[in-house]
Amino acid sequence: REPAGGSMLDTLRRIVQEVNSVDDFHSALNLIVQRVSEAMKTDVCSIYLLTPERTRYVLMATQGLRQESVGVATLGVSEGLVGQVGLREEPINLDNAPSHPRFHFLPETGEEMFHSFLGVPIIHQREVLGVLVVQQRSERRFDESEEAFLVTMSAQLAAAIAHAEATGSIFGVGTGQQIDVRFSGVAGAPGVAVGTAHVLYPVADLDAVPDKQVDNPEVEVMRFQEALESVRTDIRALQAKLSSLLPAEEQALFEVYLRMLDDSALGGEVMLLIRDGQWAQGALRQITQEHVHQFELMEDAYLRERAADIRDLGRRVLAYLQDNEGGKAEVEPNTILVGEELTPTMLGEVDREHIVGMVSRLGSGNSHVAILARAMGIPTVMGCVDLPFNQVEGTEIIVDGYSGLVLTSPSPEMTRQYREVIYEEEQLALGLEALHDLPSTTSDNYRVQLWVNTGLMSDVTRSLEQGAEGVGLFRTEVPFMMNDRFPSEEEQRQNYRAQLQAFHPAKVTMRTLDIGGDKSLSYFPIHEDNPFLGWRGIRVTLDHPEIFLVQVRAMLRASEGLNNLRIMLPMICNVLEVEEAQHFIHRALYEVREEGARVEQPQVGVMIEVPSAVYQARHLARRVDFLSVGSNDLTQYLLAVDRNNARVADLYHPFHPAVLLALKSVADDAHMEGKQVSICGELAGDPGAALLLMAMGYDILSMNASNLSRVKWVIRNFTLQESKELLDNILRMDNPYVIRSYLNHALDKAGFGRLLRPTQTLSGPMDAGSLAETTSDVTPTA
Ligand code: PEP
Ligand code: MG
Repeated sequence: REPAGGSMLDTLRRIVQEVNSVDDFHSALNLIVQRVSEAMKTDVCSIYLLTPERTRYVLMATQGLRQESVGVATLGVSEGLVGQVGLREEPINLDNAPSHPRFHFLPETGEEMFHSFLGVPIIHQREVLGVLVVQQRSERRFDESEEAFLVTMSAQLAAAIAHAEATGSIFGVGTGQQIDVRFSGVAGAPGVAVGTAHVLYPVADLDAVPDKQVDNPEVEVMRFQEALESVRTDIRALQAKLSSLLPAEEQALFEVYLRMLDDSALGGEVMLLIRDGQWAQGALRQITQEHVHQFELMEDAYLRERAADIRDLGRRVLAYLQDNEGGKAEVEPNTILVGEELTPTMLGEVDREHIVGMVSRLGSGNSHVAILARAMGIPTVMGCVDLPFNQVEGTEIIVDGYSGLVLTSPSPEMTRQYREVIYEEEQLALGLEALHDLPSTTSDNYRVQLWVNTGLMSDVTRSLEQGAEGVGLFRTEVPFMMNDRFPSEEEQRQNYRAQLQAFHPAKVTMRTLDIGGDKSLSYFPIHEDNPFLGWRGIRVTLDHPEIFLVQVRAMLRASEGLNNLRIMLPMICNVLEVEEAQHFIHRALYEVREEGARVEQPQVGVMIEVPSAVYQARHLARRVDFLSVGSNDLTQYLLAVDRNNARVADLYHPFHPAVLLALKSVADDAHMEGKQVSICGELAGDPGAALLLMAMGYDILSMNASNLSRVKWVIRNFTLQESKELLDNILRMDNPYVIRSYLNHALDKAGFGRLLRPTQTLSGPMDAGSLAETTSDVTPTA
């Protein structure tokens, strides 16, 4: 029997469309039960949803049962046929339900007259959210196509219900009914915070500006120019204010802002429109929207984020045109800034010392505000799309910048646990300070070097404070990203020299430009269907010798008199690439020496981050001075799991046996060729992994500075012998989950458990994705 009204697919599509056009969740549920019972010609259609604690099913909407029972009729998780559908995670189709042993009569619903029953589970991301049921008076079995229809309907429904549940619109957010409501976003900046939410709204609403023609455009032009000037003054003031907090290099983005306002950019275009007769506010709205729209359409995540910058600037100019610049927001101590779209300028408008955390509904780890948050050490969650941000003002919230999680209406217990983490982190930091000058030596006297990964100048200070022994990875693309054009050779030289000087005499490993994949430059966009398998890393720079040579020349010249430079090549997948790159490096060396620079030949190394390089490690090692494993990409390529895709994040497993075997084999191969081997992926900063890597023979572990003392602490409290035994046992295991828990257990036993992985105990089981986030680096790309 086909459901009425055309093909099943049409009916489905119609219902889904109709449901999507309803704003309110409860109306949507009511609409669904109505439409489904009409389409299937059933006497009853009902939706039962599990409570947030997953302890009971509640009748949420019904067509055919008594309306008074909605919200009243409930069933235990294993009670009745509904409970059975949920437990078995499959449909139950019966012609005479009341005769089934599991039937549980709900008197308040008046369901006694219905015989046939078809229930299908509503499942989202492997979790049962509820059960969708149709019932009929007559004793008949629903046929296959009816079953298929209901299953499809329920699958369509699941995402909407999950979303509604996340936004609290099911059981009510802020009503005190629901506690510890979780909203997931992405990790913006590491750390956790408990504080009071303060919602920042944009100063002026561009979208609300109407069109208006004016007779005297020159007056409008003048008003516009005044407004521009005021915004310029504000930005400069902000820049000055942040100058003590931010290194010069990060402040470059304010220069980008200022340039956007120029006559040759946004400013000029607005002026043209005004001279055409449009008033200043309308012209500003039009041009801003055009640019925002263009950026939003871009495929590239980094470029899309630039839309936010332009919108922010537009609002700022509008505020002056409307004469309501708003003034500086006063914030209380212990504030968590929350906004639809936080921007760097908003961050500058409030007292830094009072800000303990930030949450932005839009944006990603690539957003400028996230980059700044990392530089300033403010725990931040970005892209928290489900958060009803305009309902949280003044309430207590928790920000977990490790796992990208925000909790509203936290229970006293959850708050206590997070405060404990904050306290422990503070204590740990204090305690670890004592390790600063101590070597990273095991208790049986084996020495492994701990280096750091850097990108921003602010990392340098932190790294030195942590007692880093060198830089294992300087991600040179980071300063490139903070700019709006390729930096000149001299600009690069100064930047690199600052790094080399700061760490001198320790070595600094500078990676040549590694763009493509998820990292791109606004001024050098790359559009591809499969960017991670496309034009990235060394592939780009070998195709652009002018970029590569300039960068290498800048590195070489920067090292004059210091001689602590090492050059590292990313994304190498065959020996020819190494040879070509070496050729360019020699040429650059020859050139700068010709020009009179007294530069020593730097060590050159290759990153092992694609599977082919693992198998060719010995051949590669023969040609260079060192190998360094980029485990972030290597994991992604070995497991075929996109490192940025949340949907497969639980498959991104750095403790996968295949990854561990590859890591072991690279270490062995490098040593077989008598070459040094290091690792600079996030894995090196995980204390448990660090023990394994040390046991594998890695000479240098290079990590995010904030993980350094933890790793050192663990290493100093284990023996090499113990670590080798641990590794031996683990290499015999075939299951990444078992490996992770075995390792955790070993750390627990040694007394390091909770302190070393606080977010795991709090936000549920730690999967591979959250490992990457827990140890998230300070660059926009990690
Ligand atoms: C890596 O891939 O492990 C690595 C260190 O490089 P990035 O994270 O910058 O790609
Ligand atoms: Mg990489």
